[in-house]
Amino acid sequence: MSLHRRVHGDGWLLELHLVARPASTITDALTGLVGRDELRRRISAQLGSTHRGGEGFAILCVDLDRFKAVNDTLGHPVGDALLKKVADRLVKAARQEDLVARLGGDEFAIVQVGTGQPEAAEALAARLVDLVGRTYVVDGHMLNVGASVGVAIGSANGRDADTLLKNADLALYRAKEDGRGMFRFFEPGMDAKMQARRSLEIDLRRALALKEFDLAYQPQVSADGGGVTGFEALLRWKHPERGMVSPVDFIPLAEEIGLIGPIGEWVLRTACAEAARWPDNITLAVNLSPVQFRGAKLVTIVTSALAHSGLPAGRLELEITEGALLDNTDAVLSVLNALRELGVSISMDDFGTGYSSLSYLQKFPFTKIKIDQSFVRQMEESADCSAIVRAVIALGRSLGMKTTAEGVETEGQRERIRAEGCTEIQGYLTGKPMCAADAATLVCNMAPEGLAR
Ligand code: C2E
Ligand code: MG
Ligand code: MG
Repeated sequence: MSLHRRVHGDGWLLELHLVARPASTITDALTGLVGRDELRRRISAQLGSTHRGGEGFAILCVDLDRFKAVNDTLGHPVGDALLKKVADRLVKAARQEDLVARLGGDEFAIVQVGTGQPEAAEALAARLVDLVGRTYVVDGHMLNVGASVGVAIGSANGRDADTLLKNADLALYRAKEDGRGMFRFFEPGMDAKMQARRSLEIDLRRALALKEFDLAYQPQVSADGGGVTGFEALLRWKHPERGMVSPVDFIPLAEEIGLIGPIGEWVLRTACAEAARWPDNITLAVNLSPVQFRGAKLVTIVTSALAHSGLPAGRLELEITEGALLDNTDAVLSVLNALRELGVSISMDDFGTGYSSLSYLQKFPFTKIKIDQSFVRQMEESADCSAIVRAVIALGRSLGMKTTAEGVETEGQRERIRAEGCTEIQGYLTGKPMCAADAATLVCNMAPEGLAR
């Protein structure tokens, strides 16, 4: 009997407990903060109060930058300890009447209550970026993670909790996109932009399977004689409704969502197979994204593409931009050296537009420097651009590297380029990007059907 009463009693107690403390207020075991349900409840309550003439409020969504790297390299216990410290700093930055919640992973949110919006939210957002971004010491490790913050103002940016949270999240996304370690306020246009991006992402994920990609080949010609020395493979996306989508518009997205790996591999394999049909003296240039240097697969993929196609390594040039050398330079240099050992050449693409650190040219023996088209285009009008082009050509010559001028469109530009001693030209003047069959016809001087396959 007594046992029964106890069980009955506990059950009743438990029920009471649940009534007094709904599941939504159950705190996050790691940080002691409330979760998403309580956050939504608080926002709804606050909306009601604001509606009745009470104080204004703001929602600040906070996401850590580079947290994954901490978890991946130092393990989850260190990651967890870091999250606790972050939570402490958030609580310290907020006031007593504000609510700090953990939404999961490295995502947090704060409901800031009080008049003087949006100025108060701006001040808090700036404080969060600063405080959370300061160094942490965990287990003897000095850790640096940043914070990105997105802000939505109640009720101006939404009339219910979910809309406000979604809009703060959109602003957070923008803060990340703009370079991290900063805060952004929600603006109405963000939603449409996000929707457009999402649908592009869905389409892009399907494009590879549906064979919507194709390659165009643009001739590279020698600056003195004018003969074709090679082609650069340029990615094309034939979208069934959007039509031709420029690589400039979808490659950054492909990099972000992790699709550049498989797309880049497809480009390499397809272009090598095509180039293997060209005469022996014609080279193939393929663009590589900086993202393809992360992970250890690149050398294996290049080796395999060469082996499968039968293209000699000496005819393949890989084009990289300065961005590839920006972070983790040593790791990238070791991949580049391994590629050079295969016999592949490496070109520095779009030189002059990135960080243009001359030390990159000294750290790695590039075969070729490609002068960005923005300089070439303005050469005739701008003495500065002429001077830059001249200097880069001279630099290439003294470092033993070839130079290619990109985007040559007029005879005047060609004349100047040639006079400066540039070795190669690539531009609409000497050949627009063309389909594989036309490229083959150009160099083989025979119909593509007649080519040995
Ligand atoms: P890029 O590697 O610098 O390629 C040269 C771009 O300039 C190409 O644009 C080409 O069509 C364009 N171009 C060449 N000559 C002229 C000219 O005389 N006038 C003008 N106005 N433009 C000219 P495209 O094909 O739109 O490619 C843009 C960029 O997209 C490329 O710049 C490259 O960075 C990237 N890209 C293209 N294909 C791939 C790829 O397979 N993988 C990766 N990672 N990036 C690629
Ligand atoms: Mg290129
Ligand atoms: Mg270029």
